[in-house]
Amino acid sequence: MPSSKKIHRLARPSGPRCFTARNLLLLAGLISTAALTAGGAVQNLGFNSIARTQEALDKLSQGQYEQAERLAQDVLSHRQPLSGRAWLIVATARQRAGQFAQAEEAFRSYLAENDSAADRAFVLEQIKACQHAQVCDASRQPPSGRLTAQQLVELAQAQPQKAIESSAHFVVHSYNAALSKLIAIEAEAALARIGELLANGREYPNTVEIHIWPNRKAFTANAVDAPEWAGGSYSLTTRDDGLTVRRIDLTQTTNDGRFNTEMLDRVLPHELCHLVIRESFGDAPCPLFLNEGLAMLSEALPDNGRILLAGTALAGRGKLSLHELLLTEAHTLTDVEVFYAESYSLLAFLKDRLTERQFMDLIENIKLGCSFRDALHRALGTPQDDKLLPAVAAAWEAHALEQAQYLRAIRGLFELAMQR
Ligand SMILES: [Zn+2]
Repeated sequence: MPSSKKIHRLARPSGPRCFTARNLLLLAGLISTAALTAGGAVQNLGFNSIARTQEALDKLSQGQYEQAERLAQDVLSHRQPLSGRAWLIVATARQRAGQFAQAEEAFRSYLAENDSAADRAFVLEQIKACQHAQVCDASRQPPSGRLTAQQLVELAQAQPQKAIESSAHFVVHSYNAALSKLIAIEAEAALARIGELLANGREYPNTVEIHIWPNRKAFTANAVDAPEWAGGSYSLTTRDDGLTVRRIDLTQTTNDGRFNTEMLDRVLPHELCHLVIRESFGDAPCPLFLNEGLAMLSEALPDNGRILLAGTALAGRGKLSLHELLLTEAHTLTDVEVFYAESYSLLAFLKDRLTERQFMDLIENIKLGCSFRDALHRALGTPQDDKLLPAVAAAWEAHALEQAQYLRAIRGLFELAMQR
C-alpha cells in the first residue's frame, strides 16, 4: 500500500475559548433550581450534596477547576439526586481547563440523565463548542512547537558521525545526536497515539529502525522503497536470513536547509501508522481511504487545511462522494488533495461519532474482508439496511461543511482583527 508523501499546508486559526460569563450564569441557575427541588431528600441521607455542589460551583467561579471537578465528582460518587447537575460542573471545569474531549464526555453523561428541554439546549450548545475547540484548539502544541529557535538551528545541523539512539520500540540513526534523542522520544509518543487511535489495546511487540537523512538528496539515495518525490517512507522487508526489518526513512532538513518540522509533527507519525496498519492487516488489503485517513489522524495535531478543503469539495467543487471515496485505489486517484482531505474528514467524523469499541470493530471487520457498509453494520450491531450508507454520507457531509464554515468564520475574524 503506498504511503502518503503529501505535505499539506498548515493553517491553524486560534481555537475558541467557548465558555462565556453568560454560560456560567446559566449553569448557576440550573444548579440553584435543582438544589431547591432536591434539597430535603439529600440532607436526609447524611451527605449534603447541596453544600458540596455549591462549593464546587464557587471553585468553578474562582477558576479552581481541579478542585471544582473533585467536589462535583464527590457528589457523583454518592449517587445523590443532584448527580446530574454535578456532571455540568465536571464538564464545565474540564472545558475551562481546555480538556475539550473530556468535557464533551461529561456533557454527554449529563444528557444521559436529564431530559429537560431547556437544559438540553444549553448542553448541546456546549458540546458543539467543545467539538469545535477540539478541531482548532491552539493550545495543542505539536512537538516542534516545544522547540526553541536555538534548538531548531541546532537540529538542522549534520555532524560527521552517525548518532544512534534506542528506546523501547525504536533504534534511531541520524547525523545529529540531539535529533536521534528527540526522534526516539517522539516516535514513542506517536506509537502510543496510534495505539489509542486504533484502540486495539495491544502493545506493539516489535522494533523499528528509523533512519534520518540530512537532506532530500541523501534521503533519495539511501531510503528503502521511497519514490524520488517523497520526504518520508516506511518499509517492511524480510532479509535472506528470515528476519523481518521494519524501517522508516525521513529527511532532516527542508530544501532551504532548515530543520524539517513537518517531518517531526506529521511525516514520522504518518509513516509509522502505515507501518503498524500494514503489520496489523497482514495479507488483507486495507482500503486506501482507511489507510490514509488513519495515518493522517495519527499526526501530532489536527490539520485545518484539510478540514477546509474537505468542506469546500463536499460543497460541490470537485466532490468525491462517500461511495467514490470508499472505492478509490492508488491507480484510480484523480484529485489527490481532495482524496486526502475527505479521507481525513471521514475518519475524524467516524472516530468522533462511534464509541471506541465500535470504531475498533469497524476496522477489525474491514480487516476480515467486510465491505465498509457491512463492517459498519456489524460494529453498530444493526441489521442490514440500504439506508445506512446514505445516512452516514449525509451526516458526514453536513459535519464537514459545518466545520469548514466555522474555520472560515474564525479565520475571517482573525484577519479582521489583524487589519485593525
Ligand atoms: Zn500516507
